[in-house]
Amino acid sequence: MTVERDGSLTLRVPPRCDPVRAERFVAGSEVWLADKVRRREEHPPAHPVRAFREGESFFYLGREYRLLVDDLADHEAKASPGTVKLVAGRLVLSENLAKDPRTARRAVIGWYRRTGLRWAASRLQPWAARLGVPEPAVRVRDVGNRWGTYRQSTSDPGTMALHWAIFQLPSHLVDYVIAHELAHIKLSGHGPGYWKLLRTAMPECEERRAELDDLGRRLWLGDVVDGKP
Ligand SMILES: [Zn+2]
Repeated sequence: MTVERDGSLTLRVPPRCDPVRAERFVAGSEVWLADKVRRREEHPPAHPVRAFREGESFFYLGREYRLLVDDLADHEAKASPGTVKLVAGRLVLSENLAKDPRTARRAVIGWYRRTGLRWAASRLQPWAARLGVPEPAVRVRDVGNRWGTYRQSTSDPGTMALHWAIFQLPSHLVDYVIAHELAHIKLSGHGPGYWKLLRTAMPECEERRAELDDLGRRLWLGDVVDGKP
């Protein structure tokens, strides 16, 4: 059972689970739920809104990069539209892209998806080895109300999807999301066995989970300042 980022409740049950049993389970979780709801009320999400203006802050793997809107990059952008780059500690966006918030948003999120996917692909093998699981296929996209998902498959090791926004977090928290989803290859759900397995590979997983809960509330999820300043 998960309380999603939008406050809705998701209950995952086995295919032929008796609905009465499921209802009883939810009713029995009242204290746990009340605690979750109270914590959410005390710390409501505060996702920032960004503008594609010179000097705006963007984060990648926990480091802050100021936006540089550069017309010199325009000729390159024409050759490969949607060009966003990290150059010398700045996130460089061509003037062409920056002038339309929707185009700029698409380009910057596209950059997080490509760059994040490359980074995640390099982390997969060591975490899969530590957990003793095969390496699944990886996608980076908007995963909605979660930071990651794992989908099982009968013929191959399945597919893990990571939210593009997590690549703004420090690398040890992206590692947490990756290891968390990889552990689901062996065990679905979040029972005591699941946490025991994750702890063998990542002894500090509970601390990282709490840190993710906290920082995740303040991640940029793609909201942009619309219209001209
Ligand atoms: Zn999980």
